[in-house]
Formats: sequence, C-alpha cells, structure tokens
Amino acid sequence: MLRINELKLPLDHAAEDLPAAICARLDIAPEELVRFTIFRRGNDARKKHAILLTYVVDCVLANEAEVLARFADDQNVKPTPDTSYKFPVMAPEDWDGERPVVIGAGPCGLLAALILAQMGLKPIIIERGKAVRERTKDTWGLWRRSVLEPESNVQFGEGGAGTFSDGKLYSRIKDPRHLGRKVLVEFVKAGAPDDILTEAHPHIGTFRLVTMVMSMRETIESLGGEYRFQTRVEDFEIETAADGERRIAGLHLSDGSFLPARHVIMAVGHSARDTFQVLYDRGVHIEAKPFAIGVRIEHPQSWIDTARYGPSAGNKILGPAAYSISHKCRNGRTVYSFCMCPGGRVVAATSEEGRVVTNGMSQYSRAEFNANSGIVVDIDPNRDYPGGPMAGMAFQRHWESLAFEAGGRNYMAPGQKLGDFLADRPSTEFGSVIPSYKPGVHLTELKKCLPDYVIESIREALPAFGRMVPGYDHPDVVMTGVETRTSSPVRITRGKDCQSLNTRGLYPAGEGAGYAGGILSAAVDGIKVAEALATELLK
Ligand code: FAD
Repeated sequence: MLRINELKLPLDHAAEDLPAAICARLDIAPEELVRFTIFRRGNDARKKHAILLTYVVDCVLANEAEVLARFADDQNVKPTPDTSYKFPVMAPEDWDGERPVVIGAGPCGLLAALILAQMGLKPIIIERGKAVRERTKDTWGLWRRSVLEPESNVQFGEGGAGTFSDGKLYSRIKDPRHLGRKVLVEFVKAGAPDDILTEAHPHIGTFRLVTMVMSMRETIESLGGEYRFQTRVEDFEIETAADGERRIAGLHLSDGSFLPARHVIMAVGHSARDTFQVLYDRGVHIEAKPFAIGVRIEHPQSWIDTARYGPSAGNKILGPAAYSISHKCRNGRTVYSFCMCPGGRVVAATSEEGRVVTNGMSQYSRAEFNANSGIVVDIDPNRDYPGGPMAGMAFQRHWESLAFEAGGRNYMAPGQKLGDFLADRPSTEFGSVIPSYKPGVHLTELKKCLPDYVIESIREALPAFGRMVPGYDHPDVVMTGVETRTSSPVRITRGKDCQSLNTRGLYPAGEGAGYAGGILSAAVDGIKVAEALATELLK
C-alpha cells in the first residue's frame, strides 16, 4: 500500500473528485487505482474564501513498485507505514503469578489496564471514585444543585478527568510507534464514532465517552481484570533493602485493607493532591513543575465560525470552528488558549470543598450556543511559587479558594465582561453574551482571584487576540474563573524503565505524574508504562 500526504481539494468537491485527484497526483490511469482509504482528513482555512480539505490517503495500486520508484524523492508519496500494535511480551496462558495494580481509571489507567489485560496479566484497578453512571449523577449534582461530592465529581471517578469533556483526541506528542492509533482503535471498538480514525482533529464528546468507558471496563473484566471502585489508595508501603534500594511492597486502601503489590502503575491525575502529599511524605522523588492559570472565556460559536470560516461558516463538513492562539507579553509571559471547546459549555470542575475551578465540555454534536476556551498564563515554580514540590498545589488552592469567595461562596463562578475587565471596573450586568457555567456566574472583578501578573498579561493579550480572531475582544464577551487545573503542579520523576527514580516497582504515569497533557497523550503514556511493567514482571 502507498500513502499520499497533503492531497488538497476544494471544500465542496464531489465524491468522485478524490479518486480523480489521486490518479492525477500519481499520474496513473483510473484502472490502475485498485482501491483507496482515507487515513486522515483536515482542512486548510488560511484563505477564508477558498477553504481546502486536506487528505492523507492510502492506495492499493496495480503497479505500486513502479509508482514508488517514480516518486522516490517525493516526501508526500511513500509506502504506508505499519501502524498495527504489537505486544512486546505476553504472559503464559492462564497466568496465576503476581497481578499488577493500576491506581486510577482515567484514560492513562484505563489503557494501561487494557494492555496489561490483553497481555494476560489480569490487573487490579483501584479507583477512588464511583463507576461512571453513578458518577455522572454526582457530577451533575454540583452543576444543578451546588452539592459537591469530593470523591465523585468531574475529576474523580471511572473515566477520569476527561469523561465530562469535549473529548478532543489529538496531541502533539512524538509517537513513532503509532501508539495513538492503538488508543483510537480501542476507543472505536468500545463505541466511539469511526470518524475519530480519520478526522485530523477528532473528538468524542461527553455522552459517548461515558458508554465507551463502560464498554472498556467490560473488556478488561472479561480478560480477568478486576475493578475496585470507591476505594482510595491512602498510603504506600515502601520497604528498604540492606543495600538501600527502596521498593513498593503494597497499598493501604480506604476500606482499611492492605493490598500487597510489587508492581504498581500510579495514574492518579493532576487533582490527586492528597495522594501527592502522601507520596512526598514517604520520600518518593517528586519535583515542582510549571503549569498555567487564568480564566475561561465564552463567545457565541457563530462569531468564531464567521471569524474562522467567513462565507463557509456553518458548513456541515467543517463543523463548529475551533481556534488555538497565543501571545507573548511584554512582561515575558505567554498567554494562550487552552482546551478550546466549540459549541460546548463551561463546567464547575473542582474536587475540593470551598473552591471554584472552571473547565469546558461539549457533546459530540458540539451544538450548544457558545464556544469556550481557557485563556491561561504560564507560570513557573522558581519565579511564581517557590517553596518545594508541594508549593504548586498550595498556590492552586489559594486562588481556587479566592474564586469561591468572589463567586459568593456557593460554587457560582466569579465572572466579568471583557470590556469591564480591560477598563478595570466590576461588571454588574450581562450584555449580548450569556455565560453557560452552572450553577451560575456571579458578576464581579476577576482580579480578586488571580495574581496581578496574570491579570496584566491577559489584559495585554485580549486586544492582540482580537486582531487574530475578529470579534474576540468584544466588550460583552464573558470570562469566568479560575482555570487552575491545566496540568499537574508536580512531576513524579521516573527513569528510562518508567519506574520512580527512587522507588522500584512504582510506575508514575499520565497527567498527574507530569508525563501527559490530555486524553490521548495520557492514554499513550498508559500503554508505554504498561509495556515497561509487563516486561519487568515477566523477565
Ligand atoms: P485522570 O483522568 O485525572 O484520572 C485519574 C484517576 O485517578 C481519577 O479517576 C481519580 O479518581 C483516580 N485517583 C486519584 N487518586 C486516587 C487514589 N489515591 N486512589 C484511587 N484512585 C485515585 N483532555 C483532552 O485531551 N481533550 C479534552 O477535550 C479535554 N477536556 C477536559 C475537560 C474537563 C472538564 C477536564 C477536567 C479535563 C479535560 N481534559 C481534556 C484533560 C484530560 O481529561 C486529562 O488530561 C486526562 O484525563 C488525564 O488522564 P489521566 O488518566 O492521567 O488522569
């Protein structure tokens, strides 16, 4: 099979134009093209009046060797790479040796557990939150009734932090082994729409994610895996050998039991602050890590569509428009859009009482009225929160608590109109943009709950964003806060063998350990770490 990259056709092209374009590109007669499949489809909207669809296609030809030879110097015509997944090791049939443990059933833990189960290692999955259906009710409880369940919410429970999300499934990680493809293939087997395999910027949306996560659990259980929900890992038993080597020996669980375990994947996500503290207290190597904080911004989706797609706004193939923008400020900081959700809503994303955190989600249809995105400012441990590995957590908590105060102490988010924010005055009434955050938005001043340098940076960036996306800095646009859980404030550093630098048998993984940022990269990291664990366990 042969792959063509960068095949461009007009947005409104007919179906038969694609095989014709393939034949023209390869300079072959139509009968020489046996069949083709679309590997990926994206769009190039740099010229709003002439938007192009960009294809990557795999073709079976009658005379493949001859065509490849003719295009030997063309980087966009190459043999199709083998993207199939190959297990590095497999357990002997009916493995009854040690069972690896996975802490956390987010995308990282889920893929780690699936790979371990497919290798025949029958993992045990420990998850502090509830199974996804019950968890959904608790999560909506905060949004509808202002009742937070600290162990079952947007951050904690089966499916992890990305379950109530836009379900964006792309990442900029280097992926020479095509592990991202393995993740997408498993997601489709579990019920995700087929188009995630071909879209350049695939997404699933919340509703489908919930059923997909349940289906993956059934697969893992059918392979001998075991889930323990509503069970939090409270402490880690670490033994030290005569030569000083430290090794994980087991886990103390919230039901009072002790689980002996010598191979543990720790995929706890960026909000497991209590778990980070216990690991730190037990001497596991942890470092402070940069992250970002800021606000969520909302525009009517139609404004973004028009700014991005001009006369093609609303086109079904293009769907609701997304954006990704950044601005380098005079003070040296970078302000950037984060986790942009077209046609979605802003959600209450705290996991701790007395704190307010924003984030965004959408359904597969992305049909809601507003577009939302984080607008965040990079911050650095040395400059902004010195004081050791746990200082980033204290920093996040401080601003989240101030947001709770500024919102009225009832889980409403503090909000401000963009025009008032730039003019440094409190907002008192909404204009043409109505925010979507539930349980509600309390108009005030966002400077009450963000550091001065963050306010200053965002004030400089918004007019610059308005020049990139016309209408972006309209005075009625609403911002809510605070967006603090952009990534983990710590890195639980691991070596080349994926084990903690100073605790054998402990495999820090995913976003919480500082090795991923987003659903796809967390899932890919889960595969890598599961492979490393299995290779070590079976050697
Ligand atoms: P998590 O998903 O955080 O999972 C960690 C799991 O560990 C949790 O289920 C938690 O309950 C469990 N846990 C924690 N501590 C313990 C303990 N001590 N004992 C037992 N269990 C424990 N990313 C995207 O790529 N696209 C998006 O569209 C997107 N939208 C998002 C929207 C929202 C509202 C949020 C909150 C996040 C979004 N993200 C998105 C980010 C994405 O969800 C995370 O990057 C991803 O979930 C990280 O995966 P993870 O498995 O490493 O950790």
